[in-house]
Amino acid sequence: MKRIKKNTSRICIYCKEIKLFPLDFNREHVISELFGLFGTHTMTLVGLVCKVCNKYFADNLELHLGRDSTFGILYRSIVGIVQPTEFKRVIHRKRQRIEPSIQHSDHGDLLVDIQLNSDKNFDVMIANQIIIMNSTKGNRIHFRSDQLPHRSILEGMGLKPVEGYVNFVSRADDMQVQTEKFNLALKKAEIKIQVHEKQFGKFRLPNKVEPLYFKSVIDENIQRALAKMVFNYLAHRYGSSIVLSDSFNEIRNFIRYGLKASLYLMTMDNNPIVANLRKIQKDRYASHIITIGQDRYSNNIVGQMSLFNHVRFEVVLSRTYPLVSFPMQGSLFDMLGKRVIDITPLISQYIK
Ligand SMILES: [Zn+2]
Repeated sequence: MKRIKKNTSRICIYCKEIKLFPLDFNREHVISELFGLFGTHTMTLVGLVCKVCNKYFADNLELHLGRDSTFGILYRSIVGIVQPTEFKRVIHRKRQRIEPSIQHSDHGDLLVDIQLNSDKNFDVMIANQIIIMNSTKGNRIHFRSDQLPHRSILEGMGLKPVEGYVNFVSRADDMQVQTEKFNLALKKAEIKIQVHEKQFGKFRLPNKVEPLYFKSVIDENIQRALAKMVFNYLAHRYGSSIVLSDSFNEIRNFIRYGLKASLYLMTMDNNPIVANLRKIQKDRYASHIITIGQDRYSNNIVGQMSLFNHVRFEVVLSRTYPLVSFPMQGSLFDMLGKRVIDITPLISQYIK
């Protein structure tokens, strides 16, 4: 007799559609793979997230998280999850949310291109950029030459995109090619300036260690990608009957569809890294913590997440959960030790 593996119906915790298991489902990592794997302790959700949702998350949320956030670029480099060869691929993608720069005495906040070197530190090169000044206050804004906005937008920002108020900076190689690129960018932005090679501020950076600054925005897509890890953890620790409750619909719809809620769903507490990367002990950054519990005053179900032991988030999972005494749970994800430690006894003790 031939045995056929039978599909059973299950509900996806994100779209809440009834689908066939195992046919329509994919394995989902609780902590995005980008943020480490934890050996045999790696937490995954099986039969809880459908293929459609899983693919949506990969293409829309995780992609930005990995290539275009301080977590994906900076923190992953510090703890050594991303290797120099992979970094090369990641950093060449177009970015909008993170911009590395250094301070320069003549040119201010100079934009730079970075590469991870074998010392797990960053090599810095001047990016090709156009600096546009405003006429009165001496303000200047730096744009990558391939990201120069249209003249009308620049004027709206109070800048003067005309001769005398525009500077060009490039690293001192293949000037001819760069001149063409600059002129193309100017033409596209409808700025009536022609650049010639000798107008470049061309220079090489001195070979020394300098502070590197990362400007970044944590926009909604990044927030949703982070909130998903906390929601996944809720599903993993508390089970599908809890996580499918309508009390969790607000956060579910925010993560899956970007729907807004009437009150805030996430808060963040970011500590900039001010240490010298060469002296950083990566084990200080190589862990995440997630805890979930009920706020004793509001009765909200709240998740707290500390990423790379450094950036803290609070996610409001539910404001309408009907019961009190929601049990508290927590885990520590140790990247170097490749293990997950249950810290529930520790935090329960601490709370009491
Ligand atoms: Zn789904």
